[in-house]
Amino acid sequence: MDYNQEDGWHHPRITPYAPLVLDPSVMVFHYGQAIFEGLKAYRTKDGRVLLFRPEKNVARLNLSCQRMSIPQIDEEIVLDAIKQLVEIEKDWIPNEEGTSLYIRPFIIATEPSLGVHPSREYKLMVILSPVGSYYSDQLKPVRIYVEDEYVRAVPGGVGFVKTSGNYAASLKAQEKAELLGYDQVLWLDGVERKYIEEVGSMNIFFKINGEVVTPKLNGSILGGITRDSVIELLKHWNIPVKEAKISIDEINQAFQKGELEEVFGTGTAAVISPVGELKWKDTTMNISKGNNGNTLANRIYEEITSIQLGKAEDPFNWTIEIK
Ligand code: PMP
Repeated sequence: MDYNQEDGWHHPRITPYAPLVLDPSVMVFHYGQAIFEGLKAYRTKDGRVLLFRPEKNVARLNLSCQRMSIPQIDEEIVLDAIKQLVEIEKDWIPNEEGTSLYIRPFIIATEPSLGVHPSREYKLMVILSPVGSYYSDQLKPVRIYVEDEYVRAVPGGVGFVKTSGNYAASLKAQEKAELLGYDQVLWLDGVERKYIEEVGSMNIFFKINGEVVTPKLNGSILGGITRDSVIELLKHWNIPVKEAKISIDEINQAFQKGELEEVFGTGTAAVISPVGELKWKDTTMNISKGNNGNTLANRIYEEITSIQLGKAEDPFNWTIEIK
């Protein structure tokens, strides 16, 4: 689908996957006006195909549009495009449990212009790819490096939206963490460098003394859809959960006192990713005491994936069936 000033968003169409031809001066190449989303379609045992909260992704796409000076788009049209594409491509979802069809809607600025201003032309595309199961067997804990040199986002910036530049800016820290032997980066706030924000492509939760806490959305953290689902689920289970400003120092103190029971990340890719180790400056926090399957992370993972795969009741109306 395209945007120009005369016609607004227009000409929705489905075409075979193929290379794009773009003018070398289109604005996305130079000024980074690019946003995207990521969601999945799942196949149930009885052959139905379900989307998980797709309306949330489409709403977040518009939030990203708003911050990045891209014209708002009719959410129903994008949702409809996603449904139609999944219907066409659903046979690509492999028949093994845990596999799914990843859906990537994105918008790029396509006006050929070297001046710095919001583009007057855009293209919205949706591409799909089958993805295998994230875990081959049981949940695998990740080792996380708490980044204290680089920052991902600052107040008033673009950290709360899904724009490509956020990911470009995070590559250096990810590279550094990997060189040091860690899987992912935990970002601290961009001002005081002490408050916890999020992990590379996940939000983060801590279970301290039976209570679950996750950083409050503060304008520099992405409002994850899995994060939102986990909070709703915990409330439904009557497990205390709060969104708060939380410092790495507080986490370390809880760890030293033996009160840090669990840490886990949440995101579309893994759903839940337990954190086994947090490395912060000279401190190593070894959190996982062996995965015996009895953790809160396991329980949440089981429940959300069961809803996604149509194996459990969906009291929240999170899934939409493709027909
Ligand atoms: N934070 C960032 C920076 C991400 O890229 C993602 C993945 N979209 C998340 C958090 C988790 O969001 P969601 O649960 O919507 O996948």
